[in-house]
Amino acid sequence: MGRSIDTKCLHLEEDEGLFENYGAISFPIYQTATYAHPGAGRSTGYDYSRLQNPTKNHLEKVVAALENGTDAVALSSGMAAIALMMELFKPGDHIIIDSDLYGGSIRLFDNISVKNGISITRIDCYKDDIESYINEHTKAIYIETPTNPMMNVTDIEKTAKIAKAHGALLVVDNTFLTPYLQNPLDLGADIVLHSGTKYLGGHNDTLAGFIVTKDEELGERFKFLLKTIGCGIAPFDAWLILRGIKTLGIRMERAEKNAKALAEWMLEEESITKVIYPGIKEHPGYEIMKKQSRGFGAMITFQVESKEFALSILEKVRMIKYAESLGGVETLITYPTTQTHADVPKEIREKNGITEATLRLSVGIEDVEDLISELSAVFEEIKNEK
Ligand SMILES: *Cc1c(COP(=O)(O)O)cnc(C)c1O
Repeated sequence: MGRSIDTKCLHLEEDEGLFENYGAISFPIYQTATYAHPGAGRSTGYDYSRLQNPTKNHLEKVVAALENGTDAVALSSGMAAIALMMELFKPGDHIIIDSDLYGGSIRLFDNISVKNGISITRIDCYKDDIESYINEHTKAIYIETPTNPMMNVTDIEKTAKIAKAHGALLVVDNTFLTPYLQNPLDLGADIVLHSGTKYLGGHNDTLAGFIVTKDEELGERFKFLLKTIGCGIAPFDAWLILRGIKTLGIRMERAEKNAKALAEWMLEEESITKVIYPGIKEHPGYEIMKKQSRGFGAMITFQVESKEFALSILEKVRMIKYAESLGGVETLITYPTTQTHADVPKEIREKNGITEATLRLSVGIEDVEDLISELSAVFEEIKNEK
């Protein structure tokens, strides 16, 4: 039997090169752009760091192992990963995307993919009849589950079967749950994407992205694309992400525990009109998540009574930071309308349920009592000002 995910965050099955590296427990940073060759036509396997760099390659092996994939490429950001993945497609191809996605992904599909002649159909994959949107040119279905920020849950296994039946790829952006809580490749997905900037790095200090697959041919194509386009992660950043991954398990468990407690508190808080967290039994995706994930993550979306109330919260938070991004040890609060989802057309935002009174919380690993008391104090102050 293979090792558990907690152990895989720390150790590859083989400690490659350990003793050539003086037994260094922390994998070294190979800060080199190029490599000497021992002779004409001979190579150590490392020619140029755009593709081959030991620190980057080690990180790729770790992430592939965590996702139960055979191949991974490490990119300079999550968006670089998505942009590189889209190079699989050519003009005339058709892609089905979920309508509630990370704002940057929507911006990429709307502005870059469409310009490149790829047609896009936007549907609600968690509830629409996906099959009825597939045509002879459909090459992929692209989802996040749960979605950003509305936390819609799509059945990965079911969607993978539909994709397979029509010769299309299922691509899953697994940033929100991480391989610690969900492994889409095991459920039939063909490609898993990550913004490693979020939970994998975990410290709000480094940008990174990943593409993982268990199909050898796809793996080779991604390496070719990476070598050709050149958006791989830098060695030092790869090392920071490797360090972050070592604590992925304990960070995810703590953040999720905090999120559950916070979501329960929010349900009772009168200033909050709606709590969207898939770990609440009433959430429509709860049962599917129990089936396909090992947890519910630490992202909470919530609504307050008005835009003014939402903006006041952003003005008044102190320890909780008003900032874009998610998945770090620090709790962040985000205003999707003007931040992560500013470039999503207003009518789509509204259709998805993102209003000017919607806020998103990335719950960190602070003491949850301190998070609750800060939010209580903020709500109290706002109510007293009215
Ligand atoms: C942040 C994010 C991205 C983009 O990743 P970057 O590292 O910021 O480029 C993609 N998908 C999801 C779900 C994200 O949260």
